[in-house]
Amino acid sequence: AKAAGRARTALFDASLRAQLASQVNLERDLRRALEQQQLSLAFQPIYDLASGRVDSFEALVRWQHPERGAVPPSTFIPIAEESALIGQLTEWVLRHACAQLRAFERDLPPGHARPRLHVNVSGTDMCRANFVSQVAAALLSNGLEPGQLTLEITESTLMQRLDNALDVMGRLRELGVGLSVDDFGTGYSSLAYLSTLPITSLKIDRSFVQRLQDQTSDAEVVKAVITLGHALGKTVIAEGIETPDQLAQLRALGCGLGQGYLLARPLSPEAASAVVAVERRW
Ligand code: C2E
Ligand code: CA
Ligand code: CA
Ligand code: CA
Repeated sequence: AKAAGRARTALFDASLRAQLASQVNLERDLRRALEQQQLSLAFQPIYDLASGRVDSFEALVRWQHPERGAVPPSTFIPIAEESALIGQLTEWVLRHACAQLRAFERDLPPGHARPRLHVNVSGTDMCRANFVSQVAAALLSNGLEPGQLTLEITESTLMQRLDNALDVMGRLRELGVGLSVDDFGTGYSSLAYLSTLPITSLKIDRSFVQRLQDQTSDAEVVKAVITLGHALGKTVIAEGIETPDQLAQLRALGCGLGQGYLLARPLSPEAASAVVAVERRW
């Protein structure tokens, strides 16, 4: 039994070592990817659920690894967050997403409202001393107004360093940039901080939207979040809308904005540019 235990331990060690090695490789490769243009952005439209107009686009980073092919952000973002590469990655995304938004704008018919952008950032970004000036520079160098940009941050990464983050969030709000809590409802403290954080919007997590169709009490939870969010003056966004039924329920509940595969997938810049001015009917 002892020998079997040792064998298991050795196996465990081996797989742990393999996992660590692959993580170290990915970190090295990601550093290279940032230098060698292996990253790109997809843009998923966020719709005004009442008017059917495009409200904004969420920029989502993509990595085409030369040997591994497409590596999903759920794999490499955590590695970037643990390795301090996240600062560089966020800056890359910010600069490229802002430049792309400017390009969308140039293709619009005259008089059309200026398009807006959501960019995902990490809790550690919110603690960097130079973060606010990086954001300001990305906007300024592309001729964008601060109100055209919203930064999305997940509850979990925010709560890890809330004290530091609050200061930076305050300065971003002074600049005029919007702040959104991503994956809202998946953390433990959602309701407690909703009224105190300097945020402008919240994104109801996909898991709640998916359970809407079950006719369970989840619909009541979503309804309460929308009501409370609006009562506190926040914009409420539903993510992961996949079925007509979910869309209908969210509209009936008065949810302001929504995104999901039903409405549009994350799109190439060219495809996104083609839908900026296209109004949906539902
Ligand atoms: P997220 O911010 O919650 O982004 C939404 C994710 O859900 C995206 O996955 C999007 O493609 C996907 N999605 C959109 N609509 C639907 C739908 O109807 N159904 C389903 N099942 N999924 C949908 P993606 O692009 O793989 O990104 C995963 C996560 O990686 C993001 O979750 C975000 O946390 C992170 N991420 C992506 N891009 C960036 C970035 O530029 N910077 C940072 N810091 N994180 C990023
Ligand atoms: Ca997001
Ligand atoms: Ca989310
Ligand atoms: Ca998420």
